[in-house]
Amino acid sequence: MNGPWLPARISRAAPQRRRGPLATCRSGKRRLRWRLALLLAAATHVAPVTAVPPAVVAVDVGHTVDAPGATSARGRSELSFNLELAAHLVDALQARGLHVVLVNGDGRIESLQARPAVAAAAAAGLFISIHHDSVSAHELLPWRWGGNEQFYNDRWAGHSLFVSRHNPATAHSVLCARTMGAALQRAGFTPTHKNGRRRAYADHAHAVHYYDNLAVLRHATMPAVLFEAGVIRHRAEELLLADPAYQARMADALATGIAACMSAGRAADDEATADARGESVLPE
Ligand SMILES: [Zn+2]
Repeated sequence: MNGPWLPARISRAAPQRRRGPLATCRSGKRRLRWRLALLLAAATHVAPVTAVPPAVVAVDVGHTVDAPGATSARGRSELSFNLELAAHLVDALQARGLHVVLVNGDGRIESLQARPAVAAAAAAGLFISIHHDSVSAHELLPWRWGGNEQFYNDRWAGHSLFVSRHNPATAHSVLCARTMGAALQRAGFTPTHKNGRRRAYADHAHAVHYYDNLAVLRHATMPAVLFEAGVIRHRAEELLLADPAYQARMADALATGIAACMSAGRAADDEATADARGESVLPE
């Protein structure tokens, strides 16, 4: 396997039965908060990670020059935001002693399948794909910026995380996503529940959703998480997301969560059925 931190048994991504989710009861939530706090404390106080060989994290830049993803309220491409945050994340992970392979650093990767293949070739123990969120076309409103008509929506702001039940390490993917979510919230970042309208929750409190058919998550052979850093159609959040100091703080929180998950994380049996609240309240 890819690292000493991987659990002996990794549950295959069979679609989960809706058992009574642990985290919906009070004691379960307390236990989860306590466990995530312990993981984060370990990453904060016992740094850098000294696993031998060092754990490898694959940081994937979402989208390409030819298909640059969403457009911001001021007309910038999602790819440009993804490149900037990914660069900060690489620095923050390396500062914690983790090895990093940057996937699609030039925005010219040939296919979605090639992304996790690069991660596998580097023996990465975690794949994280960096994205920025948008809204649906019918939610866009016109405004003028820089002398041009642009489109925005100020309703939704905040980050969210996605995992796939078709990934062979779903439970560990959920653990890493919720650990990242906990680190982000501890650092003052607020998640969005915008995507709870369409995507079932793996962990409501940390805005971790299932997105089973996302190719990069499904094709990854290691735990994999897709991170939406914020909503670039939101005019105020776009300015934050473009700010290098904000990007560095966000990357630092992400790296804290990743280091915690990779150095100490063991997925619990119920990780993949953590919290089913918010199951698709709107049709797909
Ligand atoms: Zn994207």
